[in-house]
Amino acid sequence: MTVSRAETRRRVSRFTETCRRRGLKVTHQRMEVFRELAASDEHPDAETIYERVRARLPTVSRDTVYRTLSALEAQGLVSRTDVLGGPARYDANTAPHHHFVCTACGRISDFRSEALDALPIPRSVESLGRIESAHVQVRGVCSTCAARKRRAGRRRRR
Ligand SMILES: [Zn+2]
Ligand SMILES: [Zn+2]
Repeated sequence: MTVSRAETRRRVSRFTETCRRRGLKVTHQRMEVFRELAASDEHPDAETIYERVRARLPTVSRDTVYRTLSALEAQGLVSRTDVLGGPARYDANTAPHHHFVCTACGRISDFRSEALDALPIPRSVESLGRIESAHVQVRGVCSTCAARKRRAGRRRRR
């Protein structure tokens, strides 16, 4: 699934505006990395982003893409999620949201919930360290994988 063109444009213009405000240089390569992420809602890992950017920008190096992602993350321009022991996944959706993670294919889908956003973090957490962000990760089998399993089950029974 991809993000709508209108939403991609909104994310890209928010990105350039934030960079300008903070005096960060928007190089061509940075822009391409961000644009790739902004057009995707599948939370790709750095390697996937590198492959996609390289398809359009053959001179880009893996190192540049990885460093760009870290720099953008440090600036809060993209967010990073770690799931199921795999590589870090990136997200250009910086609005508050939560994740549904498929335990079969690893797909991460965004969902919104004002009720979860408003969930108070227990005081005891503050004694563990400074809180930067919180989000809920729901795990399960996505509908695509569930349908595939159902089809496979039917075939086996025949
Ligand atoms: Zn799945
Ligand atoms: Zn997300």
